[in-house]
Amino acid sequence: MSFSTIIDLTHPLDASRITIYPGDPQLTCCLTSSVAQDGFDVHSLSLGTHTGTHIDAPSHFIVNGTTVDQIPLDTLIGRPAIVVDLTYKTAGTKIVWDDLTKYASKMKEGTILLLYTGWSAHWATPAYMQYPYLDRDAAERILSAGVKIVGLDTLSPDEIEGPEGYGVHDAILGAGGLIIENLTNLKALVRLEEESGTELLVSIVPLILAGCDGSPVRAFGWKARGAH
Ligand SMILES: [Zn+2]
Repeated sequence: MSFSTIIDLTHPLDASRITIYPGDPQLTCCLTSSVAQDGFDVHSLSLGTHTGTHIDAPSHFIVNGTTVDQIPLDTLIGRPAIVVDLTYKTAGTKIVWDDLTKYASKMKEGTILLLYTGWSAHWATPAYMQYPYLDRDAAERILSAGVKIVGLDTLSPDEIEGPEGYGVHDAILGAGGLIIENLTNLKALVRLEEESGTELLVSIVPLILAGCDGSPVRAFGWKARGAH
């Protein structure tokens, strides 16, 4: 496999520059042994399963749902991706099916749908909390088209404390699907697709956290092999 360019879609896990979902555990990363004193560096790490760029497993919302360690890796590695340009959406507005119809013919089983709002530019600022969010009906149509993995460059596909609650989480995770939140750099992925005119592949790599409802991930994309 040759990779001409790998686009990293992951925010660094940096406690000094992060947005944490309200009520979620904080990120701490502290040096507990040092080369100077002990001959080696070791850090102690504390975080939630939904800290930084991460994946939601069905068990996040669904009783007896699939846990993150049970997700087959082949659903997440080297999968074709569709990047939907939604950068015209403004703070606190709804992404509806009409915004996605242009991409409907590409939505099929095994593809990962990435909603590119550009909101990652607001990461670690108050503006990050007021993001465009997905309409539940649109989520259901995405699922009907066969797509079970939806990624976003926002804090959540649902509005924070919105009247519709966690409707999109319920719809996607309830269908056995997966949600990736807090992606970044989708602009570079769109540019790569425009330049190469070819299919994009992405990998989303969670930790194998036994019985857990999510995990921080390393997410990255590249153009399909053989493309110029
Ligand atoms: Zn989450």
